[in-house]
Amino acid sequence: MDEKIFLCSICNINSGTCKEDCKFCSQSVRYKADIDRYKQKPIEEIIKEAITARDSGALGFCLVTADKGLNEKTLEFVCGVAKAVQEVAPELRLIACNGTATIEQLLVLKSAGVKAYNHNLETSESFYKEICTTHPWSERYETCQNVNAAGMVLITGGIFGLGETPEDRISMLKSLESLNPTSVPINFYHHNEALELEPNSLTVNEALALVKLTRKMIPNAQRIMVAGGRELMFGDRQSEIFLHGANSIVIGNYLTTSGRAMNKDLDMLQSLNLEVAKTVK
Ligand code: SF4
Repeated sequence: MDEKIFLCSICNINSGTCKEDCKFCSQSVRYKADIDRYKQKPIEEIIKEAITARDSGALGFCLVTADKGLNEKTLEFVCGVAKAVQEVAPELRLIACNGTATIEQLLVLKSAGVKAYNHNLETSESFYKEICTTHPWSERYETCQNVNAAGMVLITGGIFGLGETPEDRISMLKSLESLNPTSVPINFYHHNEALELEPNSLTVNEALALVKLTRKMIPNAQRIMVAGGRELMFGDRQSEIFLHGANSIVIGNYLTTSGRAMNKDLDMLQSLNLEVAKTVK
């Protein structure tokens, strides 16, 4: 495991237009959450965000679309964005997160300069049916297998606090481990009043134990990333995630919720004497 902290920034290049019914997701059109919704973020805005991310120490820049999976139009858009970002910020490692994808689609992204693909299993196979009825968990697993087959870096993780049991958590972590991911993003459910799920009831100690458990159960992953819900879940105990095995965080805003100012995270790392990763394998 890399001891330096990998910082990643996410950019929702398309937002809030998904027709799927994942119960934790405010980007679904079904729940009418009060969020920004647009088909394509203007390229100038994306470039601006990429430069800010790079200048703040981010190494990863993730191009996220809110849809079930890639189609021809989305693929063309993501590839165009990837090429434009590389021209201005070649130091950034480009990640795409665009839902289900075939090996062929992934190879197109790869040839456009996208190095890694993020597709989360979200939760255990058996609990997934309670969370989403419009597509099966097996499609998620298959996309992750496709990422490996396409020779891209696999980023896959999940979300805690959806009402899953401890057994579901173990099951999800075992499934993740079986995919041999390079990076495992773990999220903590951030409740939105438009969503029918109950708010996340995990305590900070339980959440820290889950970070540790993820590290323990997926020992070959280079990175355990604490992603969405970090500020809300850990509050003023955020720095403890690093003592429990995390070595990566998302900086800046999340997809539909605000993160804290990037400089606060950099200050936190400095106060802990943690070095920010400048290169990635
Ligand atoms: S498929 Fe993705 S974007 Fe669509 S509702 Fe589910 S989690 Fe949200």
